[in-house]
Amino acid sequence: MAEVASKGAPNASSDEPVLEVENLKKHFPIQSGVLKRTTGHVYAVDGVSFAIGEGRTLGLVGESGCGKSTVGRTAMRLLEPTDGSIKLSGVDVTHLSKKELRPYRRQMQIIFQDPFSSLNPRMTAGEIVKEPLYIHDIGDNKSRQEMTKALFDRVGLRQAQMNNYPHQFSGGQRQRIGIARALSLNPKLIVGDEPVSALDVSIQAQVINLMMDLQEEMNVAYLFIAHDLAVVEHISDDVAVMYLGRIVEFADKKTLFTNPQHPYTEALLSAAPIPDPTVRRDKVILQGDVPSPINPPKGCHFHTRCPYATDQCRIEEPVLKDLGGGHTVACHLR
Ligand code: SF4
Repeated sequence: MAEVASKGAPNASSDEPVLEVENLKKHFPIQSGVLKRTTGHVYAVDGVSFAIGEGRTLGLVGESGCGKSTVGRTAMRLLEPTDGSIKLSGVDVTHLSKKELRPYRRQMQIIFQDPFSSLNPRMTAGEIVKEPLYIHDIGDNKSRQEMTKALFDRVGLRQAQMNNYPHQFSGGQRQRIGIARALSLNPKLIVGDEPVSALDVSIQAQVINLMMDLQEEMNVAYLFIAHDLAVVEHISDDVAVMYLGRIVEFADKKTLFTNPQHPYTEALLSAAPIPDPTVRRDKVILQGDVPSPINPPKGCHFHTRCPYATDQCRIEEPVLKDLGGGHTVACHLR
């Protein structure tokens, strides 16, 4: 099976990917009865492999419930993987204990979708941004205060706002606090779990542009999880499309958006709005809903909704095939 890789950073100081996951699986047990017997599993992530290089952005897209957020959280070890491996700058962190993992936690941070519920309402914005420095025992009180001020400047907040509480900020400002907190430990990797989905469109652009500026400055890698293709197209170097726990297509941004090869990617792109009213695109309407990850269809997971499905698709699982130039697709037709 071909591994998908977003690691061609021309200015990368090392060829080692910042994040490399291989055959990652996360199955949640379903327990029932008084004895809490396991009666089944939710196959949220079912064999995902990819790599992200220094200063690169991998966009991970798919419909709601396809497992993309679970990939992000499992790759960060916020959820324990069921199987597979996770390497951070070449170090296998899959089975490290909480204590052993601590120094690596500094290198990977997360920005959540809802900036309001992810910020402690009882802490001031300054305390929130400073907290990771305390937890990881970095600097003294004075230097932490100076670092926090610099972070506020960097994300476009005023230093005077350090004493304000989260409810005193707008949605976009709260996400800037989340970004400042994620940056405080100077991480190598930031997982953005739908970081702009809850914001107004005009504010989304500001936050995305800020993230791109910070990436250029700090060479941080992003795993950018989103369902909005326009946002993913803007920020990503490479894009992976997920369907029901698996990556079905991977390519650099330009290739994926101009020459999609998987029927599911074609359908997603055809449903995305085009900003130019003179351009027309045939819409591919997918039938039915995403099947349950508790009992995913056999063979190709997409066969229940695919207009090109054959008997082979109902029996045999397609593996990712390399089409050349790093473009991989899991479809029997390719
Ligand atoms: Fe459709 Fe078959 Fe390709 Fe799956 S393998 S996407 S069902 S044609």
